[in-house]
Amino acid sequence: MLRHLKCPRCDSDLVQKPRLRLIVAGLLMIVSPGIAYFVPWFWGPAVILVLAGIYLLAWATVGGGRWCRQCKQFVMLPKE
Ligand SMILES: [Zn+2]
Repeated sequence: MLRHLKCPRCDSDLVQKPRLRLIVAGLLMIVSPGIAYFVPWFWGPAVILVLAGIYLLAWATVGGGRWCRQCKQFVMLPKE
């Protein structure tokens, strides 16, 4: 199924990223505080990684992996 999706905000073409890859990357980022347990200075970056991981998971689930190059963010499309 290859539909041409448009951004509801700016009407430009959307990019579809593989959802599985987003979910795997997001989960890896969320477990990164496990490293900080052994490497104390890693806490700062770990917090940022966890936030980025949550963003990636939201993108994969709520956003369906769709990305708008124009708006530079993931796009939530209304259910059809
Ligand atoms: Zn857009």
